[in-house]
Amino acid sequence: MIPVTKPYLPNREKLNKYIDGIYERQWLTNNGVLVQELTRRLEEYLGVENLLLVSNGTLALQIAYRALGVSGAAPGEQPEAITTPFTFIATASSLKWDGIEPVFVDIDPETWCLAPGNIEAAITPNTRAIVPVHVFGNACDVEAIDIIAKKHDLKVIYDGCHAFGVKYKGESLLKHGDAATLSFHATKLFHTAEGGAIIFKRKEDLERARKMINFGITGPEKIEEIGINAKLNEFQAAMGLCVLNEMEQNLEARAEVWQRYEKALGQTLRLQAKHQALDYNYAYFPVVFDSEEKAVRVATALKENGVLARRYFYPSLESVDCLDAKVEQPVSKDIASRILCLPIFDQLAQSDQSMIITVIEAELKA
Ligand SMILES: *Cc1c(COP(=O)(O)O)cnc(C)c1O
Repeated sequence: MIPVTKPYLPNREKLNKYIDGIYERQWLTNNGVLVQELTRRLEEYLGVENLLLVSNGTLALQIAYRALGVSGAAPGEQPEAITTPFTFIATASSLKWDGIEPVFVDIDPETWCLAPGNIEAAITPNTRAIVPVHVFGNACDVEAIDIIAKKHDLKVIYDGCHAFGVKYKGESLLKHGDAATLSFHATKLFHTAEGGAIIFKRKEDLERARKMINFGITGPEKIEEIGINAKLNEFQAAMGLCVLNEMEQNLEARAEVWQRYEKALGQTLRLQAKHQALDYNYAYFPVVFDSEEKAVRVATALKENGVLARRYFYPSLESVDCLDAKVEQPVSKDIASRILCLPIFDQLAQSDQSMIITVIEAELKA
């Protein structure tokens, strides 16, 4: 089977060198030297400050909510956050898990990101934050969202899990918001097998979060507050450093795959409208068909040819029962029903990609 993505596996000998170092130091976790090195290297690579490594992208979101005071309610209070239904489940479930009610607002039909024009109507006295997603690495309308947040005194936490390395107007897209989060799960563009990071706008928020990810412990005999365990370990950091060292070749290979798809399918299928000021990371290749029936038919034909295209993000999250959302979001529901993500990863053979394109073209004609 050709999967929709494959984890990037860096050079094994180089990984072994890092692991030898871990064995020599016998220091496996708790802010070890490799975690410190990866923090510096990522800040430099992304062009950001105040980056905190954590154990996954879901905890990155939850720690950000806590550090920014979005979660934590007095009796009788029910904090709410406005978010998008067109994303991976973790964006919304992390809110719910933290006692924050996700309030869905529909997306823009072209960019597939939260539509700023829909936000204000959903604000209530309980609203504390906006949690937009730079979906598939596209930029949200960060300026419009910023204006709304300031006007209503709301925090903005961007789920930037798809936006590693994406530049907006020449700078990291992840600089926007009170915080932006990343996932370093194995299937993401940059990964540490499991892992994640939070990029804070303000140093004091970073310091608050730093305490939180280590049980609230601040000294050998000092526990300042209730925290959690959300640390990244040295083995994960070693993987991250190796993947980062080879980022250039990973990106080049993906860009080639992406461009071949675009050339072959960009005229006949609907692609995500990227923000004009965007420097893209080629992390995903989603296409939208003109009906759900066609999307499913293409997915089936690909499967018969040993290719696993995935229907994501499907379903639109307001229709997931355990999230208790009541209002249908028609744009998100529509896009979700007709979308497929095509296989994209550095090792995808050109012959396999040609086969994928041929199968899709044949189904479109049928
Ligand atoms: C992957 C992903 C997450 C979750 O990250 P994990 O590291 O798997 O916990 C959250 N949001 C989005 C948009 C994602 O793609």
